[in-house]
Amino acid sequence: MGNILVLAEVSQDKDLTKPSIQVLKTARNIADQVGGNLVSVLIGSNLNNSKTQEQFGSCGVDKVILIDDAVLENYNSEIYTKLFIKVVKEQNPDYIFGINSLIGMDLLPAASFHTNGGLAMDCTEIALEGSSLTVTKTMYSNKAIVKVKFNDNFKPKLAAFRPNTLMPKDVIAKTTEVITEKANIDQNSIRQKIREVSKSKSKEVSLTEASIIISGGRAMANWDNYKILFETAEILGAAVGASRAAVDSGYAPHSMQVGQTGKTVSPQLYIACGISGAIQHFAGMGSSKVIVAINKDPNAPIFKKCDYGIVDDLFKVVPVLKEELCKLLGKECATAK
Ligand SMILES: Cc1cc2nc3c(=O)[nH]c(=O)nc-3n(C[C@H](O)[C@H](O)[C@H](O)COP(=O)(O)OP(=O)(O)OC[C@H]3O[C@@H](n4cnc5c(N)ncnc54)[C@H](O)[C@@H]3O)c2cc1C
Repeated sequence: MGNILVLAEVSQDKDLTKPSIQVLKTARNIADQVGGNLVSVLIGSNLNNSKTQEQFGSCGVDKVILIDDAVLENYNSEIYTKLFIKVVKEQNPDYIFGINSLIGMDLLPAASFHTNGGLAMDCTEIALEGSSLTVTKTMYSNKAIVKVKFNDNFKPKLAAFRPNTLMPKDVIAKTTEVITEKANIDQNSIRQKIREVSKSKSKEVSLTEASIIISGGRAMANWDNYKILFETAEILGAAVGASRAAVDSGYAPHSMQVGQTGKTVSPQLYIACGISGAIQHFAGMGSSKVIVAINKDPNAPIFKKCDYGIVDDLFKVVPVLKEELCKLLGKECATAK
């Protein structure tokens, strides 16, 4: 037997995120192989609706524990950790899976600490070898791929998965049992107070969930020039990213930074425009399925790492790319300037 607990996450619209669905379906497949139950926990506010139940059901989840409370509106590490650990101790699962997101990176190591379980973060694959669970992860800025086998003497086994890397098989939908709980937190016992939260008003595609990303580097030269990337992204349903040089130069906000000190992304297609291909940038996007580079320097390091390369000025190439995509996809397209 191997019971699995999955820490799920929802978007601002309270839909299960794509990476959550990937992890839940993967967990269902593993639970079926080891003969265990799949329980999920979701912590937040305004969660208790039939849409959520349906979404968990379509991922084959047996039971979901919704900790739904107005006090959980904004993420508070201390409160969320307390609530998650409580569920972990009550459920006593053999495996705990989550996403390598900001929340997953906070809560899974905490659960490992409180249970003395084995932990692997930023995994890209999972497999059962006999009765042993192994996960694959990259190291040294994607230069090495390691397989981690969990030590069976430790329970639970915890793994956080990089968004968009799991390719789960289809699962059979279930009627998920929903248990709704309140936070029941004594606010006086909480040391961490959230004074203010600034939420992005943007409805743009989230970088970590995007299947296609178009990123601009220092060569973009200013924020206005990102317009051509956003216009092209809109046609493709893509997200727009940036290199650290572009962010440090004030051309783009840090929320768009991809790389070692920015976001880790794994899209199906990554288009790097005017990005040299430094190892720290590669650390955040090296697991992209297909990498296309547009750079006017034929000796730029990115050309050693990409699948397709275009040696030219991005300000010539991107407008043409946009026009051709419009024709190909049959979309209305303003003439590129
Ligand atoms: C500890 C640490 C952490 C870091 N973390 C990150 C990180 O998270 N993310 C990150 O990106 N970097 C990170 N860096 C910085 C990294 O080392 C590089 O400096 C950075 O990635 C370079 O960004 P860039 O490629 O946009 O700029 P550059 O290296 O300046 O490259 C610009 C490229 O644009 C090309 N170019 C110029 N004009 C055009 C044009 N018109 N058309 C086409 N091509 C053009 C040039 O040929 C050049 O290759 C980190 C560094 C350190 C030390």
